[in-house]
Amino acid sequence: MTENIKDKVVVITGASSGLGESTARLLAQNGAKLILAARRLDRLQALAHELGLGDDATVKVDVTDRKQVEVLIAHAVKVHGRVDVLLNNAGLMPSSMLESLHIDEWDRMIDVNIKGVLYGIAAALPLMKRQMSGHIINVSSVAGHKVGPGGAVYAATKHAVRVISEGLRQEVKPYNIRTTIISPGAVATNLIDTITDPAIAANMKKTYEKAIPADSFARVVAFAMSQPEDVDINEVLFRPTSQAY
Ligand code: NDP
Repeated sequence: MTENIKDKVVVITGASSGLGESTARLLAQNGAKLILAARRLDRLQALAHELGLGDDATVKVDVTDRKQVEVLIAHAVKVHGRVDVLLNNAGLMPSSMLESLHIDEWDRMIDVNIKGVLYGIAAALPLMKRQMSGHIINVSSVAGHKVGPGGAVYAATKHAVRVISEGLRQEVKPYNIRTTIISPGAVATNLIDTITDPAIAANMKKTYEKAIPADSFARVVAFAMSQPEDVDINEVLFRPTSQAY
């Protein structure tokens, strides 16, 4: 499962915690060349230090700012000469009932979860076309397949990620670019800390009692990356074995 990872240049958004951080650890162990991005530079630097990466392995990026995402990809090219994999992972889940009108949180989810992914694609696609190779991995969710009360906007953003990824998949055939959607169930990270509604937060906390460790996600990334170049793993949906939803 770890072939074809060594020396690949991998850009990870949302690498400062949770799924992104865990993936950085696994890929670093397998010899990938990493560029870690998020807003909390101190956390990225501590991770880079721990993994024995250089100072140029971290970039402070807010994915809602298109220019910053362009700078991120340009930085990876400056340091390593190419980008083999973009893991569009940054996201948040401040779930609430629509009637609560947490409109700022709706905006934030749309900006980070959808536009952040689009900006990543926009920054990497011209480069990957020139390279005639590349792999864009977008993070959706079980909520990209179904919706429940309190999850309308988050689920909408994660459905959007799947639709955008599938459209991208069909369009990039001429350029030898691979696309993967990863849709996790409950994985133990800081994601549910973004919920501000006390009742929804309490419910979600219960669901996440069964959450599985973040290295489950990292192994899926490694699996998709490690396939031979003519094999394109387009989608993986995984959950804790005990999760019904
Ligand atoms: P965490 O809250 O642990 O991590 C979220 C990451 O996103 C952080 O590194 C954070 O970094 C980054 N981030 C948030 N906003 C921005 C921004 N504007 N610009 C750049 N980076 C940003 O949660 P997870 O690791 O769980 O989340 C990762 C992805 O996985 C998300 O897309 C989430 O929707 C998805 N997911 C998670 C599931 C789970 O159960 N954990 C299930 C299904 C999907 P910083 O704050 O430093 O910017």
